[in-house]
Amino acid sequence: MTSMGKKEGTAQVILVGDELLAGEVRDKNGYFLASSLKALGYKVTAIHVVPDNLEAIANSLKLAQRNCEVTIVSGGLGPTSDDRTAEAAAMAFSVDLELHQGWLRQLETFLKDLGMRLGDANKKQALLPRGAAILNNRKGTAPGFVMEGMDNKLLYFLPGVPSELSDMFEQEVAPDLASRAGLKVQTKIVDVFGLPEAVLYERLDGLEKAIPSISLGFLPEFPVIHVKVVARTGQGGDVRADSEKALAAIEKKLGDHICGRDMKPFATSLVNLLKERGKTLALAESCTGGRAASLVTEVPGASSVFKGCVVAYHNEAKQGLLNVPLEVLEIHGAVSAETASAMAEGVKHVLGADIGLAVTGIAGPSGGTPDKPVGLIWFSMSGPWGIDTYNKVLKGPRHWIQSLAGHVVLDRLRKRLL
Ligand code: ATP
Ligand code: MG
Repeated sequence: MTSMGKKEGTAQVILVGDELLAGEVRDKNGYFLASSLKALGYKVTAIHVVPDNLEAIANSLKLAQRNCEVTIVSGGLGPTSDDRTAEAAAMAFSVDLELHQGWLRQLETFLKDLGMRLGDANKKQALLPRGAAILNNRKGTAPGFVMEGMDNKLLYFLPGVPSELSDMFEQEVAPDLASRAGLKVQTKIVDVFGLPEAVLYERLDGLEKAIPSISLGFLPEFPVIHVKVVARTGQGGDVRADSEKALAAIEKKLGDHICGRDMKPFATSLVNLLKERGKTLALAESCTGGRAASLVTEVPGASSVFKGCVVAYHNEAKQGLLNVPLEVLEIHGAVSAETASAMAEGVKHVLGADIGLAVTGIAGPSGGTPDKPVGLIWFSMSGPWGIDTYNKVLKGPRHWIQSLAGHVVLDRLRKRLL
């Protein structure tokens, strides 16, 4: 370990689940754990995916324990008979399973709050390998646990549900790893929109060198990229000061591409800005089919600024519900600056809002022409300052184009209100 506390340990990840191998579930935990471990200073040497099978899990545990300092296991801790990770851990370590009374009592309280009683299946979840220490689960009923193998090798067992896994990692595993290494850790997350990944990496390149106690991790969640900023110092260091210094540097480098903090819903900043400015919003969506409205309504309390959305897909709906003149549609077409502006103006008046936003475009895969290619989207924003109409040609499959367009239209307004 250096004086800045950067430890180049190695780590492995084991993902347990038949559904992952059957291609039924897209893995979310592997990349989360890999990027989080990297940010904590570990070199991840392998990610294994194994079936819900006792021998397979036990073998991969033995192998991982031989090869690296830290192993993180995801999945198979639930109450059902196909959840066999705890049993496999007992097998790999040649210890018995025993009922963990402390967890049982905690679980009883958790279930009581939900109006439920402890069943036999839940009792199975409290059967842990002897010597295991509990990791608290704030989001569900499956406890995690940690075991210490030969030569202080650490194995952490986390539930497979991605939200439970990430919460347990941040709350229990990261602080435990840090304190075992005699370090102080502070994690902050900056949400970034509208910068290609390569450009983002380039802009932040050099930051880890400039502030050696900082490590960055990148979690892409299309079309947003979450940048995890982990500060780690030895006991004498000032982890808060280093973290703040890094955040200030990132703000300077990324500017208004920072769309939010801590993985909150995308439109959180926009809703807050609308509240601060005392303005209301209405949306008119064609090719995005309500995606922008869905982003806005994800934010708790959006009703105080969001009037509503008209999904006007057919030209008749654009005409009938938003008062887009027939001549505009006939002369310029549904995907045009003129139609987008008329939709924004229209929805603003129809729903009585201060600001109207509109999206109309060609999401593909067919319907493009040389003049109006697939991915061409017209956006318009009508507000107290006048009207702002612009276009972009977005790339990718249909659902990407729709999702991206829904984000773009909201983000332009967020920047306008800043
Ligand atoms: P539970 O108490 O819910 O049974 P568990 O620890 O037993 O939790 P699993 O049964 O393996 O976890 O998985 C629970 C849910 O999480 C399943 O819907 C599964 O598809 C999903 N899941 C498991 N592993 C992953 C992963 N790596 N990526 C995404 N989803 C996952
Ligand atoms: Mg399960």
